[in-house]
Amino acid sequence: MPEKYAIADLTWRELDAATDETSTLLLPVGSTEQHGHHLPLGVDTHMPEAICRRIAERSRCLVAPAIPYGVSPHHTFKPGTVTVGSETFRRYVRDVCVSTSEWGIETVLLVNGHYLVQDPELEIVVRDLRTDHGMRAFHVPLVDLFADLADEIRESDLSFHASEFETSMMLALCPDLVHMDRAEATTIAEEALPLTDYDALGDNEVGWALSADEMAELTPTGNLGDPTVATVETGERLVERVVSKAVSLVDALERPEG
Ligand SMILES: [Zn+2]
Repeated sequence: MPEKYAIADLTWRELDAATDETSTLLLPVGSTEQHGHHLPLGVDTHMPEAICRRIAERSRCLVAPAIPYGVSPHHTFKPGTVTVGSETFRRYVRDVCVSTSEWGIETVLLVNGHYLVQDPELEIVVRDLRTDHGMRAFHVPLVDLFADLADEIRESDLSFHASEFETSMMLALCPDLVHMDRAEATTIAEEALPLTDYDALGDNEVGWALSADEMAELTPTGNLGDPTVATVETGERLVERVVSKAVSLVDALERPEG
C-alpha cells in the first residue's frame, strides 16, 4: 500500500508518486440526513469514510475525500437533512471520478453508505464511467457486502434506517457519536403492501421510493427498526465482512494484468 493513502492529506508531488504504486481510488459516498434520536446526521458519510480507511490499510489503493450530500428526499421530514436532485448527484459524482482519471486513476470504487435509496444513481454513474470514460468503476454498497452475515447474526426482525445494523456499525467505527441512552425501537404495522418490505435486507421486489410524508407516518423518531439491540461486537463483525470483501476486490484489481 502507499505509505499515505488519504489524498486530501498528500501534497501533489506525494500524490503523483503514490499513483505510480496504485491506480485504484476509493470514493466514500454518503448523505447528510436524520438518523433518529440516537445517531448523528453524518452516519452515512462517517461509515464509508472509516471503512475506506480500513480497506486502504490492508490493500493498495488511495482514498478520496467523501461526497457528503446525496439523494435523501424521504428524510426531509426532520431538520438537518440535505438532499440534492438525482441528476445533480449523478453528474457531480461522475465528474469527480472523471477528474481523477486525469492524474492516473483507472479504477474507482464508489463505497456507498446510504442504504438502497441512491443505488440507482450510482449504478448509472458506474455505467457512464465504463462506457463513456473508459474507467473501471464499481458500485460498492455497504449493505450488500454485509447482508449475508447480517442475516445470520441479527437480533431484530426489522432493521432498516438507523436501527440494528447502522447503530452497531457506528458503535464500532465512531462510538463517541452514538447515544444509546436515547435509542428507541419503532415498529411498523403489518400494513405493508405486497412485494414491499421495510427491512434493509428485505424483499423489495418493486423497488423503494418513499416520500417524506410517508416516512413521517412510519416513524415518529426517524429510525425504522430496533436500535436498542445494537452492539459493538455486531458492528465489528459487519465492518470486517465489508472490509475483507472490498480488500479482495482491490487486490484482484491491482494484480498485474488483473
Ligand atoms: Zn443511514
